[in-house]
Amino acid sequence: MWFSSRKRLTVVLSSLIVISVLLAALAVGVLRDSPERYIVLRVDDIQDYAFRDAQLFLLNYSVEADLEMSLGIISGMFGEDQQVLEATRSAVRSGSEVGIHGWNHEDLAVLSMSEQRDILFQAKSRIRQLLGVDATLLIPPMFSFNEDTISAMQEESCNVISTCADYDEPSLEAEIKNIPATVELSVLSDNAWHMKSVNEVTAEVERSFELYGYTAIVTHPQEFFTDGKLNQKAVDSLIILLEKLGETFHFTTFENIARALS
Ligand SMILES: [Zn+2]
Repeated sequence: MWFSSRKRLTVVLSSLIVISVLLAALAVGVLRDSPERYIVLRVDDIQDYAFRDAQLFLLNYSVEADLEMSLGIISGMFGEDQQVLEATRSAVRSGSEVGIHGWNHEDLAVLSMSEQRDILFQAKSRIRQLLGVDATLLIPPMFSFNEDTISAMQEESCNVISTCADYDEPSLEAEIKNIPATVELSVLSDNAWHMKSVNEVTAEVERSFELYGYTAIVTHPQEFFTDGKLNQKAVDSLIILLEKLGETFHFTTFENIARALS
């Protein structure tokens, strides 16, 4: 008697477990398929040799965690550092996109239209040659651009620009989409980067989603580099943050958001 009621209990419990697992799988499936909770992690200042361990950590993490990132590459300062180049190639192969972050990190807004066009042309050629992709995203260094930048982008077939939502920007031609970063991961004070807490960033991410319908976090390898080495505390904090956001957001690229918005 005892045995059979225990057996019944086991059957009931097992059924409950099976049902719970099915429901959980369904919930995860629904969240994953939900196209509207998009988030982009934009990493600016990818370049040869600088803040190397931090760059390699971010690039390798994107591959290991299967998390697409948006990589802002300083194209004229990229390609000689084999380790950074190979890590970038792997990240691109696993879905990360490449954005043009200037040729030498120049202020585009002070340049003529033809100078800006030349920079875009050169940057696109170098990225195509080194990474085998056609970069159509511009991430202007220091968030600085003007009307001529937009004309130059049109001539060089760039269709998405990403700056920062806090800055005033000139109005855009319809063909060019402006998808700024809406959350900054760290604060720069006393010449040092301080990463915001996981809760603070999560709150900003949610607010951005309510305001803009998407979220884009901007970060730099410098934010994970202190006293000449990788800052493990910042690294751990980022991993916790990304795992938490990954539960309810879908990491993607600006190009994908541009397609979803059109
Ligand atoms: Zn930059």
